[in-house]
Amino acid sequence: MYAEIIVDIASEQVDRVFTYAVPDMLSLLPGMRVKVPFGPREKEGFVIRLKETADYDERKIKPVIAALEDYPALLPPLMELAWEIRGKAHCPLCEALRLMLPAEMRGGRIKVKTEEYAQLTIPIDQVEEAIQRQGRSSKRKLLITLLSDGQPHPLEELRAMIRDVRTPLNFLVENEMARVFEKEALRSPYYGKIDAPPDPELTIEQEEALSELIPALAHTQKPFLLHGVTGSGKTEVYIRLVREALKGGKGAIILVPEIVLTPQMINWFRSRFGDAMAVLHSRLTPGERFDEWRRIRFGDARIVIGARSAVFAPVENLGVIIVDEEHEQTYLSDRFPQYDAREIAASRGKREGAVVLLSSATPSIYSYAMARRGDYMLLEMPHRVLNRPLPSIHIVDMREELRLGNHGMFSGLLTEKLEDCIAKGQQAMLFINRRGYASSVNCRRCGETIRCDRCDVSMTYHSVDQTLRCHYCGAVRPMPKACPSCGSTYIRPMGTGTQKVEEELNRRFPGAGVIRMDVDTTTGKNAHFELVDRFRAGQAQILLGTQMIAKGLDFPRVTLVGAVMADLTLNFPDYRSPERTFQLLVQVAGRAGRGEKPGEVVIQTYQPDHYAIAGAATQDYRAYFDREFQRRKTDLYPPFTMMARFLCEAKEMETAKATAEMLKNRVIQEFGNTPLWKRIFFIRSDEAPINRIQDRARAHVLMKLLNHPDTDQLLARLQEMAGEEYAARVVLEINPASLA
Ligand code: ADP
Ligand code: ZN
Ligand code: ZN
Repeated sequence: MYAEIIVDIASEQVDRVFTYAVPDMLSLLPGMRVKVPFGPREKEGFVIRLKETADYDERKIKPVIAALEDYPALLPPLMELAWEIRGKAHCPLCEALRLMLPAEMRGGRIKVKTEEYAQLTIPIDQVEEAIQRQGRSSKRKLLITLLSDGQPHPLEELRAMIRDVRTPLNFLVENEMARVFEKEALRSPYYGKIDAPPDPELTIEQEEALSELIPALAHTQKPFLLHGVTGSGKTEVYIRLVREALKGGKGAIILVPEIVLTPQMINWFRSRFGDAMAVLHSRLTPGERFDEWRRIRFGDARIVIGARSAVFAPVENLGVIIVDEEHEQTYLSDRFPQYDAREIAASRGKREGAVVLLSSATPSIYSYAMARRGDYMLLEMPHRVLNRPLPSIHIVDMREELRLGNHGMFSGLLTEKLEDCIAKGQQAMLFINRRGYASSVNCRRCGETIRCDRCDVSMTYHSVDQTLRCHYCGAVRPMPKACPSCGSTYIRPMGTGTQKVEEELNRRFPGAGVIRMDVDTTTGKNAHFELVDRFRAGQAQILLGTQMIAKGLDFPRVTLVGAVMADLTLNFPDYRSPERTFQLLVQVAGRAGRGEKPGEVVIQTYQPDHYAIAGAATQDYRAYFDREFQRRKTDLYPPFTMMARFLCEAKEMETAKATAEMLKNRVIQEFGNTPLWKRIFFIRSDEAPINRIQDRARAHVLMKLLNHPDTDQLLARLQEMAGEEYAARVVLEINPASLA
């Protein structure tokens, strides 16, 4: 027997299968990880295929040294998927294969944890009889009672009850009445037991959606796009669909944008499915992640909830893949090899005959366009459950407030509504798109903003220790006494951060109680869960936070939502800024009025007429979509084109820019006289919008490529170019999550 093996070395030169001989005592299967000799060293590798004969001189073929596990770590459909990723991301196959496994598995860094167990080997009455004759110490007696059910008991547990349990146990073992053995132990990320609420009666819209989805479990269809307004009960649709899949013996993957932002989703699923569910996310310890992965691989957990990379979870006989909040940019991986979890979900679904369900209250322009074109099946849930109304939304023009002499961060309307809400004993959520005490520090005389010298972004003032911090690289500086540019002492923090709003709220509404959720208050492993629980339990009336409170949370007692600075995202230099602003505002507004009492929303903005803001205010997705779609078409942005860029990073800006310039010229030279040139609609080299991060200067070559079958050829060539040596570090990004 011979095995075709991909050696786990990420290099273009080694990116092909090597043939090894399989020793007789090894039984290998495709997908297994093995140890093989490679040059003078031993390397890990993946078995791709087994075959009877070698195509060249058998004497030169080296044997496989050992199998790393006794089961295939990679399932066949995932191996096929890896080939697809290799083709699309232009990476070596082994890098695509690595995506499918917990990182800890490589290099044998994580060991299977074992636990010792004790168990009787003969019936209890015989033990008692024998003990009668041999004499019985009280410890022996207690031990026998504990083991009397004949089941294996962890030594750990026995030790807790009997001091020095080894002595009586050894006695039993020596007299062949009991045995001690090792068993695999699972490190489980246990969140506590949760009682299942009774199933709600489905709404008509939920019924209708499920009547399309459930039959698709038997006859695969195109992917579905579920456009359901906030509070329409999308989660219940997922739960019912997953339950149907389980009934048919199939498994499910539910992707969420960021697991720490969705504690409630996990709770809901855990309460319904208990231990049949596994959770995969970055806050697990490596051991926990490996054990969860194995529970999935061995079929003990048939349901997986996880972030982006859970799309590669080794679920066999996959029935459903759900992508919740499909518009979120976290589904695009930012590391090489780049992939889009939504695309992988669609491809896996097709390959494995699973239902693919993308879902959002604010679908991405791309997905909605696919649905319009008929490539996805559109399902709609335009109403909230139990006839609850959507919140009523008020827009406040902050320029007007300033003219009226209000220099504060709360408009008259928001203040009034807050007072009212608190007086009535209800709850409010305030959303701010920043963290820290205040945002930037500006000079009121010359207008200068203090920027990080390493990152070219404004630094943020933190009142606790009166420092300036850069949120890109973590640099900390003392607050300067005078403007570095004009020397004026009239410099002060501008804008508004969560901490400053918290202080102001505590001052204005003493006794209301404020819980602040931002990057600073949620560093601990369970901090998110705890803060969310405290707010739900009514320990505070106001929840104040950044993006992380915008999504997914369901607090029935919240009747008021305020977006304190709605347009911060709108001013960001990216063609997707309107899309992001719209999504964020609709999500934020969607937190209001989810219980019995209707909700109200106040959006404070300087650009009340912008279609993204006005669209969010009227909650009119289609009007906004048409506007945005038209703009993309006219200005040739995705999905009508592809944005690609070479990102060049170097110590000096000169170097980064020169490399970018040179790459641009090479592209023009190489393609200028070829038919492929027609596919490059736009090319420009420049400093990146954020021109320094972590003390690396950043420049880029920005390209708009037309969608066309032979653009792939072009991309492959561009990827090759990026792989060459330059004075600057160069990566090629295709439709990246951020163009900053
Ligand atoms: P979405 O994700 O669409 O914003 P959720 O799934 O969070 O909405 O559901 C909103 C609320 O409605 C939740 O509290 C949920 O328990 C409840 N809910 C869902 N379906 C029903 C139903 N059929 N009847 C009553 N309540 C429901
Ligand atoms: Zn100044
Ligand atoms: Zn910095």
